[in-house]
Amino acid sequence: MTDSAPPSAAADSCLFCRIARGEIPSRRVYEDEDLIVFHDIHPAAPVHLLVVPKRHIESLITAALEDRELMGKMLLLAPRLAREQGAADGFRLVINNGPGGGQEVFHLHCHVLGGPRPWRQMSTGR
Ligand code: AMP
Ligand code: ZN
Repeated sequence: MTDSAPPSAAADSCLFCRIARGEIPSRRVYEDEDLIVFHDIHPAAPVHLLVVPKRHIESLITAALEDRELMGKMLLLAPRLAREQGAADGFRLVINNGPGGGQEVFHLHCHVLGGPRPWRQMSTGR
């Protein structure tokens, strides 16, 4: 499922594409051919991971039917990594889509939040 096409102009400068390519450091906890997972740099909870497809997809707004397997993989990976990173009793998933949805990095990602309260209020954008 890995995209063999050359990076688009958007992917060239995109923060999460650059993290996926190893050009920008991250605290990575998981990687396979399709996904990377790393700690959010500004955590809103004791466990705050970002599950990110390596392929540049802007958001669910632009995701296509061909991305369904990738989406399923993102969701199914979350419980395992949440548990491994210390969210023993459950977790919350958040996907912000578009400016109106509070998205700040325009490369699709799933926030995995867990651990003991209190949690910080997540940014809602604008
Ligand atoms: P969103 O508002 O859903 O687009 O979330 C973007 C998230 O990316 C925010 O929670 C940021 O704290 C996080 N973030 C921004 N830059 C980095 C980075 N270099 N490494 C890890 N997380 C980052
Ligand atoms: Zn990207």
